[in-house]
Amino acid sequence: NVRVRFAPSPTGPLHIGGVRTALYNYLFAKKHQGTFILRIEDTDQTRYVANAEQYIIDALEWCGIPFDEGPDKNEQFGPYRQSERKELYKKYANILLETGHAYYAFDTSEQLDAHRKGHEAEGKTFIYNWHNREKGRLVNSLVLSNEQVQQRIDSGEKYVVRFKSPQDEILVLEDEVRGSIRIDTNVLDDKILFKSDGMPTYHLANIVDDHLMEISHVIRGEEWLPSLALHVLLYRAFGWDAPKFAHLPLILKPVGKGKLSKRDGDKLGFPVFPLEYKNEVTGDVSRGYKEDGYFNDAFINMLSLLGWNPGTEQEIFYLQELIDAFDLQKVSKSGAKFNPDKTKWFNQQYLQLKEDMYLTALYRPILEEKGITFDEKYTERVVSLIKERAVFVHDFWNLSNFFFESPETYDAKASKKNWKEGTPDIMSELIAVISSIDLFESAIIETIVKEWITNKEIGFGKVMQPLRLSLVGALKGPHLFDIMEMIGKKETLNRIQNAID
Ligand code: GLU
Repeated sequence: NVRVRFAPSPTGPLHIGGVRTALYNYLFAKKHQGTFILRIEDTDQTRYVANAEQYIIDALEWCGIPFDEGPDKNEQFGPYRQSERKELYKKYANILLETGHAYYAFDTSEQLDAHRKGHEAEGKTFIYNWHNREKGRLVNSLVLSNEQVQQRIDSGEKYVVRFKSPQDEILVLEDEVRGSIRIDTNVLDDKILFKSDGMPTYHLANIVDDHLMEISHVIRGEEWLPSLALHVLLYRAFGWDAPKFAHLPLILKPVGKGKLSKRDGDKLGFPVFPLEYKNEVTGDVSRGYKEDGYFNDAFINMLSLLGWNPGTEQEIFYLQELIDAFDLQKVSKSGAKFNPDKTKWFNQQYLQLKEDMYLTALYRPILEEKGITFDEKYTERVVSLIKERAVFVHDFWNLSNFFFESPETYDAKASKKNWKEGTPDIMSELIAVISSIDLFESAIIETIVKEWITNKEIGFGKVMQPLRLSLVGALKGPHLFDIMEMIGKKETLNRIQNAID
């Protein structure tokens, strides 16, 4: 029974690394007819951002990877916000205290700093564990008597509960992506599990919830790999079976070294967030894929291949195909470089795969905003002619404006090169030729015009380039005779005449 969770902390908008974690959890769940759970890890209230939870939910929704269980949805293992589960964690912290797997510590941050500095001065690193926890220098329940501990707590002194990590043990941790990892417990800190403000740390809350929510596989970012030893030890201390773990490789910046950050996006002009995000404190707006014009399926496809590949050459995958092909064993161990050009390429590919009718409906508001009367059939035909050159729907207008309005200006450079002294005469003759065509269809116009050019022996360029300039205003656009058929005989003749005048 596969149950996986995406467990973001609502500290801001979801970065593409976070969405990728969500996606892999989703794919894994669906592949195994399992359950995809959203859990909000909001125990660190100093970093809490009010609209972040809704942002996360909206982003998953837009990506097309909604959760099955989570806040306000199928809450049989709920609540799914850690801030609503506070009481629980205290109970489990107490269990560890009672069984001797955890202890109270009263050291102030000044005292800890002093220990750190003292160690540094001797060229050593201070680790809060068996090396020094019972030697009397540290203030904790391993050296104080029960009465002393109780007294300090009763008097309102601040404390933390620390995990008592074992001495001299080699742990062999299993990761679905990385295989076996050996860790010497002597390098582990006695991590804080619980604080006197009644709040658990990430580690305790995460383990308790994964256990109570019956999570079978923990799939998360590589930055959590250093916590794996502690997590496995916590499961052991509670006497619980641990889930399986899979740590996903980092997403790296496109150029240079290191992790992809928001700043890389800003610098290179591409979004790193699925949806636009407005910081309510600073008023800053960060770009989103959705608002930039990406299709959600193209975005998901691109994201799926950042750290996983099916082992074949196939690159285009619809969601169901991703579900079928996804395999944790094929997730890569090394970081995946984010590639903004490839991201655009995916959108272009998906645009070609969309129905013309669908694209036409998306184009409609853009045309309406320009005050252009919208004709469904006509626009659909335009879309079919120009879409292969488009990456986004918002590219359509520049690729097709001449289907809707006659040019007001002519590209200066192209005119200089192609509109010569003799051109007006040639164009006037062409007007006569075109006027005589009755059945105004692309192939027919093409045959007649080309025949005329051949007979006159003036060369195709001398006619076709000025003709394109007259009709389009620039040397761009699809097959010229298709354009002529589309705009019609009268408009074609008008435009050529306008260009001559
Ligand atoms: N709350 C953690 C995060 O923000 C969850 C890590 C985990 O999946 O265990 O990434």
